[in-house]
Amino acid sequence: MNRFRSAREELDQLVPYDAKDVRAEVLLASNENPMNLPQEIVKKLSERLSQFQFNRYPDPTASALRRLLAEANGLEPENVLVGNGGDELIFDLLLAWGGPGRTMLDLPPTFGMYAIDAATTGTSVVSIPRLEDFSVNQDAVLQRVRQGDIDLVMIANPNNPTGGLIDESFLIDLLGASDAIVLVDEAYFEFSRLTMRHHMSRHPNLVLLRTFSKAFSLAGLRVGYLLGDADVICELMKVRQPYSVDAFSQWVAATVYRERVMFEQVISDIIRNRDMISRELAQVPGVEVFPSEANFVLFRVEHASALWRDMLHTHSVLIRDFTRTPGLENCLRVTVGTAEESVRFLEGVAEVIGGRRSAAELAGTGGARGRGVE
Ligand SMILES: *Cc1c(COP(=O)(O)O)cnc(C)c1O
Repeated sequence: MNRFRSAREELDQLVPYDAKDVRAEVLLASNENPMNLPQEIVKKLSERLSQFQFNRYPDPTASALRRLLAEANGLEPENVLVGNGGDELIFDLLLAWGGPGRTMLDLPPTFGMYAIDAATTGTSVVSIPRLEDFSVNQDAVLQRVRQGDIDLVMIANPNNPTGGLIDESFLIDLLGASDAIVLVDEAYFEFSRLTMRHHMSRHPNLVLLRTFSKAFSLAGLRVGYLLGDADVICELMKVRQPYSVDAFSQWVAATVYRERVMFEQVISDIIRNRDMISRELAQVPGVEVFPSEANFVLFRVEHASALWRDMLHTHSVLIRDFTRTPGLENCLRVTVGTAEESVRFLEGVAEVIGGRRSAAELAGTGGARGRGVE
């Protein structure tokens, strides 16, 4: 006899999400904002903390935050759904539009949660891999969607972890190609400054995802939101957990959003450091850098896993290893930190790769070409 009744068969194929809790002095693995909340905001919050009603259930629709988000985006509150991070909203989309007998279109390599949530909800996945340069195979996608059996399409724009954007004209063609729900995941909107928002009125199947976890320094609280047609939001309200966004997070996110101009400086610093990292990394012999419109940079380098390990153990810099992800062989992703963290990362890379090359030269196996970063 079994120790206990087996769980759903689909779960056999899955392993629990591993957030890889590795300790390091410089954390550049999760696309977080390197800066904590501005002190002015923390002060504002702490002044009112003693009156906070911890004893009451949260407002299930986060109406104050929802109103702010609607207003800022020229929409009605009915067009906005706040979730426990963007991740919960992705799961809600799969609960409502996925499930057994239904199909999600995925464009790997991309954000892993789409495929994970498809698996946990028993949703079939059609994958159309990206091309060599990580652009979308547009003809293949349009052709597949026109067959009419795709229920939900997931597109991260900019894409994580590759960093690039998708042609707007392609997205418009995709929205018109069927009535499938198309999630355009704009988690990095504050860095790319590009949105499909203005196409919402003509395309009720378009849903946008945003988050407070990246630009707004709130990864620790879990707040994200969807923008979409009121009837689409209504379907999602049927499947969501009514109290998933706690009252404290609603309050902090609303305060942050009201004060969002305070983040403009740190966002432009991040963009500047990102371009610096891309430029400098591209100078390192043997490194291929992929263009990014987000707060991270993906690059390919020989012996990437060894570089990842040396960066952690010798330099205490944690970056993200994608070398085991299909299509991302030998690829690593570095989140853009502060200027100091970015320099420390670049110096570490130059040292590891420089050391490797001189070792190869000593052994007479490698020729020195180009130059390293100083
Ligand atoms: C980070 C991220 C999200 C959501 O993050 P949350 O912390 O759950 O809000 C969604 N999509 C992409 C592509 C991301 O990179």
